Amino acid sequence: MMTNILFTASECTPFIKTGGLADVIGSLPQSINKTTNSHVKVMLPLYDEIPDHWQSQMELVTTINVPVGWRNQEASIYTLEHNGVDYFFISNDYYFTRKGVYGYYDDGERFVFFSRAVIEALPYLNFTPDIIHAHDWQTGLVCAFAKILQPIENLKTVFTIHNIRYQGIMPHTMFGEMFNLSMDHFGGMEWNGMLNCMKSGIFHADKVTTVSPTYAEEIKDPYYGEGLHQLLLERDDDLTGIINGIDTNDYHPLKDPYIFSNYRHSRGKKKENKEYLQEILGLPIDGEKPFYVIISRLVEQKGFHLIQRILDEFLQEDVQVAVLGTGDGEFEGFFYHAAERHPERLSVSLTFDEKLARQMYAAADFFIMPSQFEPCGLTQLIALQYKAVPIVRETGGLKDTVQSFNEITGEGNGFSFQNYNAHELLETLKHSLRVYHNPIQWIQLLKNVNKSQFSWKESAIQYNQLYAEFETANIYS
Ligand code: ADP
Repeated sequence: MMTNILFTASECTPFIKTGGLADVIGSLPQSINKTTNSHVKVMLPLYDEIPDHWQSQMELVTTINVPVGWRNQEASIYTLEHNGVDYFFISNDYYFTRKGVYGYYDDGERFVFFSRAVIEALPYLNFTPDIIHAHDWQTGLVCAFAKILQPIENLKTVFTIHNIRYQGIMPHTMFGEMFNLSMDHFGGMEWNGMLNCMKSGIFHADKVTTVSPTYAEEIKDPYYGEGLHQLLLERDDDLTGIINGIDTNDYHPLKDPYIFSNYRHSRGKKKENKEYLQEILGLPIDGEKPFYVIISRLVEQKGFHLIQRILDEFLQEDVQVAVLGTGDGEFEGFFYHAAERHPERLSVSLTFDEKLARQMYAAADFFIMPSQFEPCGLTQLIALQYKAVPIVRETGGLKDTVQSFNEITGEGNGFSFQNYNAHELLETLKHSLRVYHNPIQWIQLLKNVNKSQFSWKESAIQYNQLYAEFETANIYS
């Protein structure tokens, strides 16, 4: 029997992306639909920022009223099909006709509205979901509304935590202003006196998942749990970690239209990509030079405090480092000034640029990612796919996908270190450089990189098994 699933999230490639969540929502449904007997459709906000060529393909389904406190807000439902997946978009001029995606004072309110609109839209879709699968805090309240309002008989919910640091916290007064629910339901949505969308999702969902087995363990610990570890311990029986994949068709160095020279394994072609990038970044052109790359949001999570401590020292070595990212002023300022100090060795691009990102993966010998915590991390997987060796801290999904190279056994597809410590990072970087200059070890390491596989297929099967548990439970209940 086919199980119908409605995914709901705040971003999704190819329509709108600020980070890895968009990659996941853009590729997992296709994979589930292709590989399993579950069928996924996806519901998203219709941001003004979604390019016109997508918006012009959308068809209006209908316009509905969504209760928001004592008012009603209009929501129009649009739809389009892309690569075998049906997408629904919820539009509302007041909440979503703005520049960018997040960062507004009323982000909480915007996603209270969106979450309620998802529930109100259900009768108007061309299918009836058996399960709603909500992702991250922006849609945590969908699980709460689904459980409380019961819009469809026996509807189940799954909530996936992509990053527990961001919780969607609002003043508790919003409950009275926005929710149209009895105060009996406040407790399941409240945390430390505030409304908390992440907590609501974890509390109300029938099953909770996160994006790697190691992170599923880590978040039950106070160091990683961002205040919610106790709740996660209480939900332990329903909590699993399923590792993310990447769309290996889209991220493929042989097919990528953005890169200078397409390749499968060829180091010669990779060198051409390196020299091309050195030229456009204004670095000395030398295909032999070890080339280290960082592509990231510039936030504390990604380990930039460690990089800050050791970058000048590492740049004493005969290497080049290229950074692409946007984020906190502290780190943007740091890199801006560091590039002034090291014009021959460091290039810094403080922008969000998909094309440059792909050119950098293609050019890189190494990819640096010393995260403080990392739910899964996609960039190390993309790096491996483009034959760049990841250098990571052993946390979350990084621990599950990168094994440190061992010269004695010849095993390992990257370099890693354990403690959140700048000198461990520096030592690991120097270790990677020694291996780069040792042809026998370097070739062995690249062989291991070539064998690393991170397609979605395995994970799609695991999600399908999780969905199937509800059916089994129904049969026996
Ligand atoms: P997170 O979701 O925590 O930011 P992930 O590793 O899961 O981190 O995914 C990040 C995604 O965003 C990857 O696809 C990466 O290539 C992309 N990305 C991050 N920063 C930039 C940037 N400045 N320009 C282009 N792409 C970027």
